[in-house]
Amino acid sequence: MVEKGALYVCPTPIGNLADITLRVLDTLKQVDFIAAEDTRHSRKLLAHYKIKTLLISYHEHNERQRAAELIARLQQGQSGALISDAGMPGISDPGSVLIRQCIEKGIKIDVLPGPNAALTALVLSGMPTDSFLYLGFLPSKKKERQKILAEIAELPYTIILYEAPHRLQRTLQDILEVLGDREVAVARELTKLHQTVHRGAASDLLAEFEQTPAKGECCLLIAPAKGQEQVLKNQATDWLRDLEKLEAEGVTGKEALRLVAQKYGIGKNAIYKAKLEQKKNTK
Ligand code: SAM
Repeated sequence: MVEKGALYVCPTPIGNLADITLRVLDTLKQVDFIAAEDTRHSRKLLAHYKIKTLLISYHEHNERQRAAELIARLQQGQSGALISDAGMPGISDPGSVLIRQCIEKGIKIDVLPGPNAALTALVLSGMPTDSFLYLGFLPSKKKERQKILAEIAELPYTIILYEAPHRLQRTLQDILEVLGDREVAVARELTKLHQTVHRGAASDLLAEFEQTPAKGECCLLIAPAKGQEQVLKNQATDWLRDLEKLEAEGVTGKEALRLVAQKYGIGKNAIYKAKLEQKKNTK
């Protein structure tokens, strides 16, 4: 039974229509209204399950204004459900504004468990699941993307990203430049007929997608920096030797860094850090 004046956050399938819980179906049938990201899209799902509840549009462009209207309905005692186009509302989807406002106004919210691409991809990737960091979509500007990658370079957590298929190569290239040839995984078309997982070094997946561009929805996972530390330490002697050699030949420090990074397929930051470390140790 749904409660009067409460908001129920309901995850919906990320591909396979059967991935919807009995509780979500019951809730969607019982509430007074369903706030949906794209009403046309959600109407198909609801029609499939013969749900005739009133649909109200709630998307990123009308999120703030619509949140006030939905809050008013809830305060009048109506019960509501929040759904997005796919998966868990609020996760790289609209929802968090409404949820926060409900909490601030003392309106009861409940979140029903259900499909989510990030967690499905994480488990399927086989990468460590004990600690992970979800970053959603990286910025579209290269500089901003690389800055974020540099910030997470040393983190011993599996990193989960959402990525559009036509941007996959670009992001793999950034990973290669900033993090080096780290182990990555791409989970495509999860729960759908053509679900595939590609696992391997960033350079291998880059070559693979250069030959056959990826299609469909994708999650990109990056292996934790754990273990990476030792590999980097072992390689550091070679980088620093090459760096010194180039500088002795008159190449500027910045250019030498770029050349060595390119040669070893490693991030410039890692080499720079090794150089600082060497300086510290020889003092
Ligand atoms: N709220 C959703 C969730 O809980 O997963 C995510 C919404 S976000 C706007 C959409 C992105 O999620 C896609 O661009 C893709 O990166 C990822 N995604 C969604 N469905 C997917 C699927 N079936 N397979 C792989 N990735 C998926």
